[in-house]
Amino acid sequence: MNPLDFIEQHKDDLLTTYQDLHCLAEPSWEEEKTSGCIADKLQLAGFKVKRFKDHYGIIAEIQGTTDQVVALRADMDALVQEVNGVVRPNHSCGHDGHSTMVLYTALALAASGLKPKHTIRFIFQPAEEKGKGALKMMEDGALENVSLLFGTHVRPVSELPYRKASPVIIHGSAGTIRGSIKGRQAHAALPKEGINVIEAASLLVQELKEIDLSTEVPYSIKMTQLTTESEATNVIPETAHFALDVRAQSNEVMSLLKQRAKAAMELAEERTGASFTWSMEEFVPAAVKNERAIKITEKAIGEILGKENVVPVCISGGAEDFHFYTAKNPGLAATMIGLGCGLTPGLHHPDMNFNLDALIYGSKILIQTLLTALQET
Ligand SMILES: [Zn+2]
Ligand SMILES: [Zn+2]
Repeated sequence: MNPLDFIEQHKDDLLTTYQDLHCLAEPSWEEEKTSGCIADKLQLAGFKVKRFKDHYGIIAEIQGTTDQVVALRADMDALVQEVNGVVRPNHSCGHDGHSTMVLYTALALAASGLKPKHTIRFIFQPAEEKGKGALKMMEDGALENVSLLFGTHVRPVSELPYRKASPVIIHGSAGTIRGSIKGRQAHAALPKEGINVIEAASLLVQELKEIDLSTEVPYSIKMTQLTTESEATNVIPETAHFALDVRAQSNEVMSLLKQRAKAAMELAEERTGASFTWSMEEFVPAAVKNERAIKITEKAIGEILGKENVVPVCISGGAEDFHFYTAKNPGLAATMIGLGCGLTPGLHHPDMNFNLDALIYGSKILIQTLLTALQET
């Protein structure tokens, strides 16, 4: 059976699976039932499913004859957030939709009896929202022999309209610098005898505001958290903890910002006598455009939605751990398809919703992407 016809004929099953995954909604690293549901459906379709001891990732393959692998990645985790006054896991980033589309791409290609020349690997990763799932899957060999890798993400209407798609999402890089400042306590009546960590922090804030890089690339760096360990208001505080949120649309600008933040902290140390300790945490690299992968997804989207519905690039200020796959494997050709789906009010919004019809044409785009990739390699 033609795999695109399979999607048409199994529309209802696909939407039911989506609803099932939507209701299961599990946080990062706890995707037990979600991955169980996906693995069951893959096994029922005859896939040998690889699972792991210390996380809920899944790898399944359609065997080829060469040693090359073309891979398609989905993420499975939900966000924990307040929804109508209740804090619970909620699929407001659409990972339930991504898992559904990649699963049905696998089922459709298996049902078509396709004997691909290269192996097709389906990767279902945990913990995207923590920025750690892709790294874990790589540690466990998800990219072994992979020369081409694709992924997809639903996009809000502000980025892509309904029934339009983009061959590449240019995500930015993001990270949090967490640090502590050590000063010296003193009676508040004798401030000169102490080293006030709030004064050191405010110097840092000022220095960060002065950062002006000569680049066209959007970026920002700012303090988003500051606490001291002093409960008394009549004491010069000795210890403070802070967080800086750092974002840049390219990896080069991100590393420049890191250097400038370091210089700003050194300056604050010099001027106040306080000492700073810090590290970059929750870091995710920016997307790197790969023309070879983009050509394939561009062609596939055009064939499914019509060339007039291909939007050349989708620029997003958000971040994605997909880009670790390329950051750690510079030779890999990879891209993420941006899927316009009428998504409102926005990703990570508790009331996020989109037109479920997008799961049907989205699955077809993924199938066509893999078929095109096999033809062109
Ligand atoms: Zn997200
Ligand atoms: Zn996401």
